[in-house]
Amino acid sequence: MGEKDCLFCRIGRKEIPAKLVYEDPEIFAFEDINPQAPEHILICPRKHLVSLREAEAADAALLGRILLVGAQLAKERKRADFRTVFNNGPEVGQSVFHLHLHVLGGRAMGWPPG
Ligand code: AMP
Ligand code: ZN
Repeated sequence: MGEKDCLFCRIGRKEIPAKLVYEDPEIFAFEDINPQAPEHILICPRKHLVSLREAEAADAALLGRILLVGAQLAKERKRADFRTVFNNGPEVGQSVFHLHLHVLGGRAMGWPPG
């Protein structure tokens, strides 16, 4: 699936509604439609990368910024503790094939994840 039909590209272009909580020329973030914690935000690059597997050295700064935006959003929401997750591939739970960082907070969590 290319950028045209990709769900998260479409959210980034505002063709599909979402509760956007952050955007800049490279990155956008929105609330997960099926939250797994009181706070559950997804942070995406506008660039259509399928997963970390497709990321290259040229994407290093973009990926770093995604992590920093995640930390900033958690801080703004007074979440001292939060979890950040990238699922890469269907076996480990990826269901939308546009790279996204999950930022989860607001409840205790176990380890290892399921
Ligand atoms: P993953 O399973 O890691 O690919 O994560 C995909 C996430 O996208 C899941 O947590 C879904 O709940 C979330 N999701 C799917 N569709 C939407 C949507 N239209 N708006 C917001 N979040 C969505
Ligand atoms: Zn996409």
